[in-house]
Amino acid sequence: MLYDNHGREINYLRLAVTDRCNLRCFYCMPEEGIKYMPKKELLSYEEMIRLVTMMAGMGISKVRITGGEPFLRKGMMEFMETLSNITGIEKLNITTNGTLTKDLVPDFKKVGISSVNLSLDSLDEKRFFDITRRDNFSTVMDTFHQLLEHGIQTKINAVVMNGRNIDDIIPMVRLAKEHQVAVRFIEEMPFNGTGSNSEQLLWDYPKILDHIKTEFPNIEKIKDPKHSTSFNYQIPGFKGSVGIIAAYSRLFCGSCNRIRLTPQGMLKTCLYDNGVFNIKNLIREGASDEQLKTAFLEALGNRAKDGFEAEQNRDFGFPASESMATIGG
Ligand code: SAM
Ligand code: SF4
Repeated sequence: MLYDNHGREINYLRLAVTDRCNLRCFYCMPEEGIKYMPKKELLSYEEMIRLVTMMAGMGISKVRITGGEPFLRKGMMEFMETLSNITGIEKLNITTNGTLTKDLVPDFKKVGISSVNLSLDSLDEKRFFDITRRDNFSTVMDTFHQLLEHGIQTKINAVVMNGRNIDDIIPMVRLAKEHQVAVRFIEEMPFNGTGSNSEQLLWDYPKILDHIKTEFPNIEKIKDPKHSTSFNYQIPGFKGSVGIIAAYSRLFCGSCNRIRLTPQGMLKTCLYDNGVFNIKNLIREGASDEQLKTAFLEALGNRAKDGFEAEQNRDFGFPASESMATIGG
């Protein structure tokens, strides 16, 4: 098992496979002027497989593929199948915007995907367009239904944005009435790639919960799974559950079990740090597995205690404002 310097177990890798995206969610990316990384700067599949194999041997048992939009990268299904067959990897999950996903869903179980987080911030076509700046609402809804039809464990991620999708909160909660789905509301974070920081978070966890209670006063807290980032709730008679992720308030740092690899190979031991070291550079300089392991363990031994400390320790770009597409969420 792997532990950090604060005694937290580390068993979960979030692997962002691309910084490219076909949507332009305004909370994540500016509409124009994005400079994607040159392809040669991205970790290759071979490099990612080597790193995941090494980490799996050290205690990482769960991997989430994210991005950018993962399915923009060619050969993603084959890559995921290879990952899921690595000894020690017990869970392989994916986070996707659902625009390119629908036709792949029937093969998800075959390639080893046990659960999908589908990003969907609105159930209203026009609001969806206003938020994502693209016209993909019906495609994403088709993906949602495909996931349910094929019995893939599905979570919906909705970022709560003042003045943008507050009217969606209650209808989205209702999705959990008919469907066995976890609907999770995420506090908006400053990772929008524009530097226009939300000076103050208007819709935090308590406010989102109070809003839900206006319609569902009998909502009940349920036990959160170990390492859960969401505070989870159930409404009597509902098939699914409701969760709130206090990502801006950073209420889950005490049990954080995750590390991140960015598309260009930067290891992040906290969402709010600006990268501990570039593991791809080490690989390309010819590092052995032993050298990679040593560098990796050293990084885990110097982990910030929470997202506030990690943000304070940034050596460039304070406060955090880079696009989430370069991190993976
Ligand atoms: N493109 C995929 C998608 O949208 O699901 C995967 C990458 S996306 C960066 C991963 C997650 O980060 C999504 O659920 C998205 O809603 C979330 N996210 C992006 N920017 C965010 C922000 N500023 N605050 C909170 N969540 C954010
Ligand atoms: Fe793309 Fe996902 Fe960012 Fe939206 S949240 S712009 S879908 S990477």
